Amino acid sequence: MAEVLVYVDHVDGTVRKPTLELLTLARRLGDPVAVHLGPGAETAAPVLAEYGAVKILAADAPEFADYLVVPKVDGLQAAAGAVSPAAVLVPSSAEGKEIAARLAVRLGSGIITDAVDLTAGEEGPVATQSVFAASYTTRSRVSRGVPVITVKPNATAPEAAPVDVAVEQLEVSFGEQATGTRIVSRTPRESTGRPDLTEAAIVVSGGRGVNGAENFPLIEALADSLGAAVGASRAAVDAGWYPHSSQVGQTGKTVSPQLYIAAGISGAIQHRAGMQTSKTIVAINKDAEAPIFELVDYGVVGDLFEVVPALTEEVKAR
Ligand code: FAD
Repeated sequence: MAEVLVYVDHVDGTVRKPTLELLTLARRLGDPVAVHLGPGAETAAPVLAEYGAVKILAADAPEFADYLVVPKVDGLQAAAGAVSPAAVLVPSSAEGKEIAARLAVRLGSGIITDAVDLTAGEEGPVATQSVFAASYTTRSRVSRGVPVITVKPNATAPEAAPVDVAVEQLEVSFGEQATGTRIVSRTPRESTGRPDLTEAAIVVSGGRGVNGAENFPLIEALADSLGAAVGASRAAVDAGWYPHSSQVGQTGKTVSPQLYIAAGISGAIQHRAGMQTSKTIVAINKDAEAPIFELVDYGVVGDLFEVVPALTEEVKAR
């Protein structure tokens, strides 16, 4: 069977969930081969094997930790040279998309970004994308070179399919550009104990209707009862009620959770751009004419100051 390269997104061998989703999708296309760059391949191996990686190509060098992006492109290119893959899958994070784009240029390949589904086609993988503010769903395939495809987090639920895995060392020779941008410091984000916004299975977001930073704990309480991440509209962020790192939308993060709850958010096109591929969308808004109700699966017309605490209590009671 054809081999499909999966770029492993990890922190020192702790594999992040989008990689498990990629492995799940890769199994539809062929045999997943995980590419692990940087320290921790032995730590990652059991997890990667549990999700179906038949082989791990591993390389460790200071360049992966000390320099931005390009060394990882060198690593992935070396892996593509080693196995002649049927496709290369990379998570649709900001870094993932840059790695994928650079790799596609090097391989002379076409690239598809932000896929929300992947299926095997007769002439190669077929990627589904949701485009133009979800007005269209497109299915496309790469017609030149090795398809390089980035897949949005939460595109699929990770499913285990345990196999035996072998870790093989990958030889990577770094090009001149590899050391072009050095990382001078890293500041870990203050931990909220909540999942990462872009990876969370559930996101609860607040907008201008929340009416002040002092009321965001209402949104946080609902999020915590559901094990969700907290998001915010730009109006709430611009007002200084919630950090920019939580902004969902065109100029914020793109999220695609199983469940997205929007409280006091009108549903402007720029907000939709960041959340419209969510599987189930719920809105709480006191204006029955708010545009967000055009795209919801469930809408509650009501005052969020009554509805959100009631919902939180209901969830906690279960
Ligand atoms: P509003 O549009 O003011 O809506 C507030 C909603 O809350 C209303 O529908 C109201 O009925 C409801 N409400 C009020 N009180 C209550 C209550 N007590 N209970 C229930 N409901 C209540 N926006 C983003 O979100 N993300 C982006 O990334 C983004 N990027 C942008 C980029 C550009 C270039 C531009 C021009 C704009 C961008 N915007 C973005 C801004 C966007 O156009 C909207 O202005 C913004 O999304 C509005 O935020 P909101 O829905 O919270 O506020």
